[in-house]
Amino acid sequence: MYIITENGSKALDLNFTNEISRRSGEDIKACFQCQKCASGCPIAEYGEMDTNQVIRMIQFGLKDELLKSKAIWVCVGCETCGARCPNGIRIAAIMDTLREMAIEEGITPAEKDIYLFHQCFLDSAKSLGRVHEATMLMKYKLKSGHLMDDVGVGLKMFLKGKLALFPHSVSSKSEVRKIFEWAKQKRSGH
Ligand code: SF4
Ligand code: SF4
Repeated sequence: MYIITENGSKALDLNFTNEISRRSGEDIKACFQCQKCASGCPIAEYGEMDTNQVIRMIQFGLKDELLKSKAIWVCVGCETCGARCPNGIRIAAIMDTLREMAIEEGITPAEKDIYLFHQCFLDSAKSLGRVHEATMLMKYKLKSGHLMDDVGVGLKMFLKGKLALFPHSVSSKSEVRKIFEWAKQKRSGH
């Protein structure tokens, strides 16, 4: 949180703050804690802290506490917070950055199933060019052990034609893979 400056006084360690700003493209320092973002967040009750508190922790350089928190995993990326923020801060992009950093640093996700779901989703998009829900969900269920969860919902979706049994072919799979490569290089700062 703090560094000791050359004259021996304490100062906030802004390395973490600056890194999140660089990687997410969002201006963390512009947040003045009006809390408009938190008031519309649909998952506020599940994440241990409000969205404005996440931003405050970044401003204070509380890296370990934040990367180990549930708050960064329960965000569903709905962008409500970004739409409400008077400074245009897109917290969904910041949450993505925090999750990426937690994984890079080898921190066990506070919400393992959510991380597993992310992996299955991205693997499906990368290998098929678009997500195929049925195989993606099967993979998630096998890996998580939650075999019978939401079976009724899945059946209803299938009967309404919302869950295709076979993947649709996509002509531009190589283009989609290039996007994954581009994102990987961007993350590493190249
Ligand atoms: S993007 Fe995430 S943090 Fe923002 S309102 Fe939606 S769920 Fe909440
Ligand atoms: S709405 Fe924007 S300025 Fe207000 S607390 Fe949230 S991130 Fe900060």
